Amino acid sequence: MFFNYISCTKKRLRVSLSKIKYGQKSLAYSLGVFLQPCMDIEKELYIAAVELAEKRYPKGWGGAAAVRVESGKVLTSVAPDIKNESLGLCMEVGAYLEAHKIDEVVTHSLSVSRETEKSEFVILTPCGVCQERLVHWGGNVLAAITNPENKVIFKNIRELQPHHWSAVNGEQL
Ligand SMILES: [Zn+2]
Repeated sequence: MFFNYISCTKKRLRVSLSKIKYGQKSLAYSLGVFLQPCMDIEKELYIAAVELAEKRYPKGWGGAAAVRVESGKVLTSVAPDIKNESLGLCMEVGAYLEAHKIDEVVTHSLSVSRETEKSEFVILTPCGVCQERLVHWGGNVLAAITNPENKVIFKNIRELQPHHWSAVNGEQL
């Protein structure tokens, strides 16, 4: 428990320091996050996704996903670059595949994108296909949703899919 706390604190410190160079607003935000309790998984995921998007796409459009699995690991991914639009995949798919590879249950999924390097990041509800991918891990999986204030709000897949087709098999999400 103690070591968990230390490792979490170190991670938060690293996140805070890395944000300083992005200006006062980011500094204030990251310090705010740093002071929050260690168990704030949802904000941690938001920061992980934003960090990856900023690093991978320093100019123009940017987007990334951060997914948490049951052991506490955070898996991140981006959408593949493609020449043919039919090859497109959502940014969270890589992290879902990684969860399958390490045989872990996904507990949270969050994706963000921004139009340019000067725009704010917005949270994207998983598309219908990705919600279907999350159903694999049951109705309790939490997904961050799009909302007008762009707050970090999670809803479980059971709430997002109240009429899921699996009901015809007598299953309940
Ligand atoms: Zn999707």
